[in-house]
Amino acid sequence: MRTDPTAPWADQVRQLGLRATPGRVAALRYLHDHPHSTAAQVHAGISGELPTVSMQSVHNVVNDLSARGLLRRIDLPGAGAARFETNSEDNHHHIQCVVCGRLEDVECVIGRAPCLTPAEGHGMHTVLAADVMFRAVCTDCATAENTQSTNPTHNQEKTDD
Ligand SMILES: [Zn+2]
Ligand SMILES: [Zn+2]
Repeated sequence: MRTDPTAPWADQVRQLGLRATPGRVAALRYLHDHPHSTAAQVHAGISGELPTVSMQSVHNVVNDLSARGLLRRIDLPGAGAARFETNSEDNHHHIQCVVCGRLEDVECVIGRAPCLTPAEGHGMHTVLAADVMFRAVCTDCATAENTQSTNPTHNQEKTDD
């Protein structure tokens, strides 16, 4: 089911046949402003506005809205918690620094799914999407690494016998 992406969050939730609860609307608003957040970050971010909302209900909200396509869930290899973002339907991909874990969006060249097709069908009927995760080293981590390795070592001042 598609929602009108220009409609307010409460309307988009209702278009899915769900009640526009304050928790759902606040989570969508938070994730729109803070993409790639974990459920715990969403909880921390909205608990000022909604002090009674529980961690468990935030988990339910992000899982429900991901299952219905309003949020996109990003599962990172080796990371404990999934990240979430509002689903912009632009089929963008992600690039992550393997050192510090920083995650950024990468535009999809084609802009719609599936932008890649597998060499073999593997018996599947329809290819829906290709989720590409680029692994990288960010500029900050590369700079830190270079500073370390080019640091002269001062503890070898013994002269050769
Ligand atoms: Zn990094
Ligand atoms: Zn993203």
